[in-house]
Amino acid sequence: MSALFGTYARSPLAFERGEGVRLFSEDGTRYLDFHAGIAVNALGHAHPHLVETMRNAADKVWHVSNVFTIPEAERLAQRLVDATFADSVFFTNSGAEAVECAIKTARHYFWAKGETERYEIIAFTGSFHGRTLGTIAAAGNAHYVEGFGPALEGFVHVKPNDIKLVEAAITAKTCAILIEPVQGEGGVTAMSVDYLRGLRALCDKHGLLLMFDEIQCGYGRTGRFFAHEWAGIEPDIMAVAKGIGGGFPLGACLAKGDVAKSMVPGTHGSTYGGNPLACTIGNAVLDKVLEPGFIEHVDKMGQRLTWHLQQLQQRFPGQVLELRGKGLLAGFKLNDSIVVRDFVARMRDDHQLLTQGASDNVLRLLPPLIVTEADIEEAVDKIAAALTALDAEAAKEHVTA
Ligand SMILES: *Cc1c(COP(=O)(O)O)cnc(C)c1O
Repeated sequence: MSALFGTYARSPLAFERGEGVRLFSEDGTRYLDFHAGIAVNALGHAHPHLVETMRNAADKVWHVSNVFTIPEAERLAQRLVDATFADSVFFTNSGAEAVECAIKTARHYFWAKGETERYEIIAFTGSFHGRTLGTIAAAGNAHYVEGFGPALEGFVHVKPNDIKLVEAAITAKTCAILIEPVQGEGGVTAMSVDYLRGLRALCDKHGLLLMFDEIQCGYGRTGRFFAHEWAGIEPDIMAVAKGIGGGFPLGACLAKGDVAKSMVPGTHGSTYGGNPLACTIGNAVLDKVLEPGFIEHVDKMGQRLTWHLQQLQQRFPGQVLELRGKGLLAGFKLNDSIVVRDFVARMRDDHQLLTQGASDNVLRLLPPLIVTEADIEEAVDKIAAALTALDAEAAKEHVTA
């Protein structure tokens, strides 16, 4: 009996070490990791640059409070500002905290302007923003809200990828729109370029702030540094996490300068957020992600993965119903006769391939960004083998019946 909270349906599988896109369990079995700690291990496992950075950081200052200047945080923030739309960064320990900061920043921006009744945020069905009380209310998934008392007020939810629904939801109380450019947990749904541009135009027309949650789809994963770059538009605020720390807990809320300027001393804070150790690792991850050719590699691998999944769909049209996602945030919807959770377990146990389920019976593939085409071919072969085995079992059952 585990001493941990029972909040996860855990597999008994435990890993001892990792190397690139591979993980090795305690009994030495080798797994192909297309899970990457849910899009966290951007550089794979035990990346030499991260290992060396961590070793060197061990005998330096791990933590000081944000009441002091933290040069590693200053540097990481400046590099993020130089590479994005943003002018200002707040560091957190997690994705949910980055979204919390985004929500607080948007509301406080209007409050400081005297528009105190303007606090409502338009968010989307199928979205996921984290597990704090604020972020479960933001996503509005009844499953996650139920049983936890009154939900935080001030969120309305509409279906994504239909601009008319968003326009109809705007009232005098609306302050911002919060969306994942590619929904992760909700079924790997990519917003269209036109839709993202439409949201930007609506925000400009009505004086609203556009907030992107790029915690899963950002940091190179779709083949651009951030997924919204595909649409050629910019948000006002953006939540980042997962890949930013490459496995070390780190998140960030990025904002335009005029939007962040009301967040003065006392309005927000975090004990650990942006501490020296976290930002040292964050800088090391960014060294690699911004290295010339890195994101181009992701873009190319994303295209190869899409191509291989198209081949898979042609081979298994009855099981692979629809391809989803963008770049290396990919997935496909499985026929209802296959339960995605069971399929994920089967691929893990029988084929040593690690993947993740998403809502809507979607199988999610999130390899480390350093993945090669040979790894992709191996993964798709394993998926094909698992689908073939399912077919064979179904045929056998049919004969027995
Ligand atoms: C994972 C995720 C979060 C929450 O991040 P945590 O680090 O688990 O708090 C929020 N939004 C999106 C889109 C995510 O994928």
